[in-house]
Amino acid sequence: AKWVYGFGDGKAEGSASDRNLLGGKGANLAEMCGLGLPVPPGFTITTEVCKWFYDHGKAYPETLEADVDAALASVGRSVGREFGGQEKPLLLSVRSGARASMPGMMDTVLNLGLNDETVIALAKDAGDERFAYDSYRRFIQMYSSVVLDVDHEHFEEILEDAKATLGYELDTDMTAADWQGVITRFKALVEQETGAPFPQEPSDQLWGAIGAVFSSWMNARAITYRQLHNIPAAWGTAVNVQAMVFGNLGNTSATGVAFTRNPSTGEKRLYGEFLVNAQGEDVVAGIRTPQDLTEQARIESGSDKPSLEKLMPDTFREFTSICDRLEAHYRDMQDVEFTVESGKLWMLQTRSGKRTAKAALKIAVDMAAEGVITPNEAVCRVDPASLDQLLHPTIDPGSTRDVIAKGLPASPGAATGEIVFTSEDAVAKAKEGRPVILVRIETSPEDIHGMHASEGILTTRGGMTSHAAVVARGMGTPCVSGAGGIRVDMKAETIQTPSGLLKKGDVITLDGSTGQVIRGKVTMLQPELSGDFGKLMEWADAARRMKVRTNAETPADAKAARSFGAEGIGLCRTEHMFFEGKRIVAMREMILADNEAGRREALAKLLPMQRSDFVELFDIMAGLPVTIRLLDPPLHEFLPKTDEEIAEVCEAMGVAEDLLRERVEALHEFNPMLGHRGCRLAISYPEIAEMQARAIFEAAVEAAGKAGEMVVPEVMVPLVGLKSELDFVKARIDAVAEEVMAETGARFDYLVGTMIELPRAAIRAGSIAETAEFFSFGTNDLTQTTFGISRDDAATFLQTYQQKGIIEQDPFVSIDIDGVGALVEIASKAGRDRRPDIKLGICGEHGGDPSSITFCEETGLDYVSCSPFRVPIARLAAAQASI
Ligand code: PEP
Ligand code: MG
Repeated sequence: AKWVYGFGDGKAEGSASDRNLLGGKGANLAEMCGLGLPVPPGFTITTEVCKWFYDHGKAYPETLEADVDAALASVGRSVGREFGGQEKPLLLSVRSGARASMPGMMDTVLNLGLNDETVIALAKDAGDERFAYDSYRRFIQMYSSVVLDVDHEHFEEILEDAKATLGYELDTDMTAADWQGVITRFKALVEQETGAPFPQEPSDQLWGAIGAVFSSWMNARAITYRQLHNIPAAWGTAVNVQAMVFGNLGNTSATGVAFTRNPSTGEKRLYGEFLVNAQGEDVVAGIRTPQDLTEQARIESGSDKPSLEKLMPDTFREFTSICDRLEAHYRDMQDVEFTVESGKLWMLQTRSGKRTAKAALKIAVDMAAEGVITPNEAVCRVDPASLDQLLHPTIDPGSTRDVIAKGLPASPGAATGEIVFTSEDAVAKAKEGRPVILVRIETSPEDIHGMHASEGILTTRGGMTSHAAVVARGMGTPCVSGAGGIRVDMKAETIQTPSGLLKKGDVITLDGSTGQVIRGKVTMLQPELSGDFGKLMEWADAARRMKVRTNAETPADAKAARSFGAEGIGLCRTEHMFFEGKRIVAMREMILADNEAGRREALAKLLPMQRSDFVELFDIMAGLPVTIRLLDPPLHEFLPKTDEEIAEVCEAMGVAEDLLRERVEALHEFNPMLGHRGCRLAISYPEIAEMQARAIFEAAVEAAGKAGEMVVPEVMVPLVGLKSELDFVKARIDAVAEEVMAETGARFDYLVGTMIELPRAAIRAGSIAETAEFFSFGTNDLTQTTFGISRDDAATFLQTYQQKGIIEQDPFVSIDIDGVGALVEIASKAGRDRRPDIKLGICGEHGGDPSSITFCEETGLDYVSCSPFRVPIARLAAAQASI
């Protein structure tokens, strides 16, 4: 097998299409090299080696060493240097690079190859002693913490101590001799901590670093990141070894990162930061505040430090033209890293840039408008789940804001919550359902779980590409970074602001779009659904085959769903309508009645309320299909539970407590979800179904009189397992329809159909379709009954199942294609065979889940139905599934 792929001098053994083998970074380095862009030569050790490494107890394939030696020699020839050489030493960077980008999750070692001798050669060759010793101490520090597991803090302490003793403030005050002193102390520290001297042999250093990168694939933060992003552990990482180029070689050197468009807003403008006389990690680490790339950005930020455009105009021009080229080549916004060494530009990385949902939307729509991609490609460029972020509130510009600090607008959106200072507190409070804002000086990969649990993130240090900013944007969490005007005391758990002290638990609001930190809660605004959003949705609608309906029973939900583009109601759960105000009283009267006459009397009171609800829904839906489900839950759900509630209800209804208790007890069931519910109620008490059918039909007639557009109501019978059950209930519905037509003289069409939410119904769907005019897959109950897992109790153990790898995804969130999905397929096919024009839809939670929607498209369902806020997600996911 070929384990090592070289690149350099305009040639490469791999290309962008080798991402699985070379990792994202390696594949793109090869691609850039192939394009003739200035890339420091190097080689990539493949992800296959990583797999081999773990399959063989952390050993390497036999030929790997020889392959690496050959590749190293070739790199050396290309730059005219020799690894471990005493005159012109070749120094290396060793970086990880997985198939999917995992920013900051894995380890990197720079300046590898330095030792007590090569450092002297480097000093001579560069003509700069200070630079050489600075590089050496950086290397010892980085290598020791990454490869030898010596705590990073120990080195920082020595450095701080040295500066204090010398009376310096900045690292840049340190002279070559000062650094030599520090290096001696660093080496002593390593020997003391590890029991062995710092490795001097360059090839030992290299193999140590390679092993550390492969090992970092299984470190805790990489594992957490993979879990959060559904990245399989089996992919492995590649290792990229490259000739070092130096951004810290004085004031004509620099290093930086850039996005070819703004990753927060999507605006088409080069966007990034750099530091003069610095090395790669300094920018991302957020330790020094970086400078703007463009003059325009500098003016806008009000920075007094010159932009790259001003400082190095030729380099800047070359850089922008490379950025344009990369964007055109990859046909997507790029995130690049670069270094300028003594005036010469080098490209260190390019990849498709992570972006906010807002930016993804704008970039996709803009690129389609620019003709770079097609509208269908634009539709596929936006992650449906991310639309959630766009549908979330922003701060009302008219509201008064008590702004206590300002930082960088690192990740847009607004969030309110209680201040916490540690990730542990963030997770704990979030578990209690309390929204929190995580406040840190800066974040590190160890904070991932806390950041994930937080509504918003505030840091006092670091730029737009600091860890906090990058990760928050990826998560869609609002973030303000680098709020230097406030001081965080992590020990006391307080924030000192110009206008006073805030402590843990105090409520603040972040505006991630402006960088403002605001005391207390602020009025929020609903999002804008026109513009780019409207355009993309238009393209999505043109591309999709399935219809998207909503699950709604209140007028407010129905209206919201319409504004999000719902094309009808796929599930109106009528029971929700019985809980409000006076209705619950009539409902309880009905349940407490001991004969049919008593029940009919109570139902007569419910009829007008139910009818007016339906009239309103039909009005809002203006001729679009509306599926109304007959009463589903077990009746005891409507009865009071605690003693106090029982007393209250008896008082209000004027019934004896004994009677009520007796009735509550009589209705008690051991397994209510498998008990007296669904169509079983309609069979026991047909008068309930009759009242509901009457309300539906009378409402249809009334709504038609008002709007002129006649709805075709779809009456849905829940929890059917037998054709005979449906036959029984349908006969009642049909009889009521006849009555209403006779009474009103109006003619109307309607459909009677059923939920398919029991395995028996799915298996017998052919026979059920003789009666049912439509099927709606109730995948919540179908999942519950197929697995035999209670949907109300699953949370306690399904998480363990996921952690232990028994299941990959929660089947109540994403449809279990092999099991539940198989039943859906069987039922769809049988239903269609028996009744070719049968309407098929889904109304379980899965109707709003993108991967389940893909399954629905493949199964040929006619529509999906989901909660109002998920309608745009479903429209986009349905379109992507069609393309
Ligand atoms: C279902 O079971 O999938 C369904 C939509 O009905 P409910 O959630 O109301 O039981
Ligand atoms: Mg159900």
